[in-house]
Amino acid sequence: MKNERGDNPNTALLYETDGLLMEFEAVVTERICLPEGKGYGLILDRTAFFPGGGGQESDSGYIRTSGGKGIRVTRAAVSDGKVIHYTEEPVDEGERITGLIDRKQRISRMQDHGAEHLISGLIHERFGYDNVGFHMSKDETVIDFNGPLSEEQIRQIEQRANEIICENVPVTVSFPSPKEAKALSYRSKLDLYENIRLVSIEGFDVCACCAPHLPSTGLFGSVMITSHMPHRGGTRMSLVAGINAYDDHSKLAGSNAKIMEMLSSPRYETDEFVKDMTDRMASLREENTELKRKLTKLVSDSVAGGLLREDPQGNGIRAVFCDVADMTGLRELVNNCTSVYKGVVCAFLKKESGFGYIFSVCKGRAQSAGLKELADDFNRSCRGKGGGSPLMVTGTTEAGREEIERFFAQKSP
Ligand SMILES: [Zn+2]
Repeated sequence: MKNERGDNPNTALLYETDGLLMEFEAVVTERICLPEGKGYGLILDRTAFFPGGGGQESDSGYIRTSGGKGIRVTRAAVSDGKVIHYTEEPVDEGERITGLIDRKQRISRMQDHGAEHLISGLIHERFGYDNVGFHMSKDETVIDFNGPLSEEQIRQIEQRANEIICENVPVTVSFPSPKEAKALSYRSKLDLYENIRLVSIEGFDVCACCAPHLPSTGLFGSVMITSHMPHRGGTRMSLVAGINAYDDHSKLAGSNAKIMEMLSSPRYETDEFVKDMTDRMASLREENTELKRKLTKLVSDSVAGGLLREDPQGNGIRAVFCDVADMTGLRELVNNCTSVYKGVVCAFLKKESGFGYIFSVCKGRAQSAGLKELADDFNRSCRGKGGGSPLMVTGTTEAGREEIERFFAQKSP
């Protein structure tokens, strides 16, 4: 193969000059039997099936035999310089067939690919950046440029591209000789001058490309740059054009309609409404934190007061269950208790399964209280795990409240 276009002396490549040719007559010049179960390979004297290349996937479609039988063409590919059409059933050599390209798939790909040329050409002209990576999938086309672009610059390029689409500028194909190619200025990933095919969006872009293209920009429909981000010092962007742009818009509009309904917002103001809501949520979150803090203080005051009434000498080990705070609140509660109570405080916070716990004792009794031994004992008895210092141990347990209370009933004097 000399380059991406292949070297096909036996097959006329109809797609190269007519991107809209979706039905063609041809003769089967060779039939290849593939290994068992893999189907057949057909070579034709002429074809409109694009075998893939330049970032665009191969076509699929059907072959209709002279007897009217439809045979699926799963894909086409260039192998040993020949365009091979892969089929599920055989067709005899010498048979006259009609080739039928999967129209929707091909047109959607040509819309995306044409829009990619247009965007790349505009960015090259305006900023001097090259398209250094290009990948087309069913849902989007991803392009890498070797320079940074701001949101504003990208929207300006997108707007200009859509104006050019609306102007329905011709897209033409030419095959310059190596001498002519050397004298021309065009975008190309490879330094090639031989067997070159140039695709021109007249006045806006010239690019070496092997893929079929739509004959004018109006057929691209529209182009939208759906996302962009800095990538290896340059910019990676995703775009959709034509029918894919419609599909993308349709999904977004569906999502926007749900937001409009939920927030009773006008069609183009959902972002303002969502911003108001997130601002309100942030202030509610602050309010919530403050309320939790106040509640924790109230609860811990009452718990500490209760412990003092029950055991004024502070000899006990007291289990306290609290469901109003998070672990930070629980720590506050424990600190508040140990600031007045001289015994050991074991505080529990209900979790999705089991409890989180903090065992603590006032500083003066850290050495004598045996907190770590108590925690080890608890972890063994109540399927817990955790660790800490002689002053404070934190952990979790899978045990239920009754089981925990039984453990502490045995421990308390
Ligand atoms: Zn191309």
